[in-house]
Amino acid sequence: MFVDQVKIYVKGGDGGNGMVAYRREKYVPKGGPAGGDGGKGADVVFKVDEGLRTLMDFRYQRHFKAPRGEHGMSKNQHGRNAKDMIVKVPPGTVVMDAETKVVIADLVEHGQQAVIAKGGRGGRGNSRFATPANPAPEIAENGEPGQERDVILELKLLADVGLVGFPSVGKSTLLSVVSSAKPKIAEYHFTTIVPNLGMVETEDGRSFVMADLPGLIEGAHSGVGLGHQFLRHIERTRVIIHVVDMAATEGRNPFEDYLTINRELKEYNLRLTERPQIIVANKMDMPGAEENLQKFKEQLKEDYPIFPISALTRKGLRELLFAVADILEDTPEFPLEHEEEAGINRVLYKHEADPDAFVITREPDGSFVITGNKLEKLFKMTDFSRDESVRRFSRQLRGMGVDDALRQKGAKSGDIVKLLDFEFEFIE
Ligand code: GDP
Ligand code: MG
Repeated sequence: MFVDQVKIYVKGGDGGNGMVAYRREKYVPKGGPAGGDGGKGADVVFKVDEGLRTLMDFRYQRHFKAPRGEHGMSKNQHGRNAKDMIVKVPPGTVVMDAETKVVIADLVEHGQQAVIAKGGRGGRGNSRFATPANPAPEIAENGEPGQERDVILELKLLADVGLVGFPSVGKSTLLSVVSSAKPKIAEYHFTTIVPNLGMVETEDGRSFVMADLPGLIEGAHSGVGLGHQFLRHIERTRVIIHVVDMAATEGRNPFEDYLTINRELKEYNLRLTERPQIIVANKMDMPGAEENLQKFKEQLKEDYPIFPISALTRKGLRELLFAVADILEDTPEFPLEHEEEAGINRVLYKHEADPDAFVITREPDGSFVITGNKLEKLFKMTDFSRDESVRRFSRQLRGMGVDDALRQKGAKSGDIVKLLDFEFEFIE
């Protein structure tokens, strides 16, 4: 099984802060509250784009931070919500939480999307805190912090492009020079039924999976059965690159080679001859290759493009890869015969932690440290420069049972309690 895996960091946008403001009216020193709410922070949304084949793009960009919501304004104007950050992923991408390994999303079909990191809601402005008893409150919330997490993207790789050709024509060499894969390069004919896969990237940033399919021909010669996994790779292949040793280094006729391989592709009954084929004339650095190529062209009846290259000197590779990427873009996927196996049926195990949970620990200096998601979020949403906000925060802690829990742990008046970078005194 070939999988491409990357770990990335995502963060939803923070909500905008709520505002403390008052209406300004003639002859009224402090009018009613008029502070608007902050806008919502952007979600980080993953969306399937069927044009993508690999996770290559994520090797360059590993951090995705969505923009924050606009802050609330005076005259009860709400801050604008930030626009969601859309991140494109290839079909078949499975997204897991890096810490818990829980699957967050299984993105299969074109256009399918999932929120991977939620943006925070906007903080409320002071208008929302007005009560008959307190008609002009001096309190506003900060925006809720956006969710942040490390996630692992995983993609099962199936070949988009398959290399076929006689042994020793240069398939492994070609794959090794255009991709990050390092397949074995042999001087001799040997049989393997394991395809070598490599991820290939063109200069203009398109990427696809190329497989050396030596077993297809070589396995057939020695009568080795092809594994299921291997058949799936071949079936999935949308473009065939037919590599021909144009220098005839082993004394065979290049055009005869070409006909033989195509006959075998047909015999496999995998509808491989229906795929677009690109002919690669390899070893053009060798004497005689140019003349052989001319003869080859005269004899060729099919309307397949021919790319003269040298895998050894790397000549002609750029044009070849552009052509492959272009053809891939225009070639639909072939329906898979082994569809059920290809489909990924995963069970989603979701474990939701108790949102009100918090933990109290004791430092060597006797101070108490409280941690917990909800608590920390409330803390970040509190504007500590305003007494009313601080009082509200204390009430919220009491409501969650923090005071009782501290008392149970032996906290006494005057003890220091820490929460994130905030320290306060416990007062009975
Ligand atoms: P495969 O069996 O089709 O995978 O062929 P390999 O990639 O193992 O190559 C067989 C031999 O041909 C090796 O000795 C390579 O170094 C050599 N070879 C591959 N490409 C070229 C080329 O473009 N020019 C020359 N001169 N030799 C090549
Ligand atoms: Mg090889």
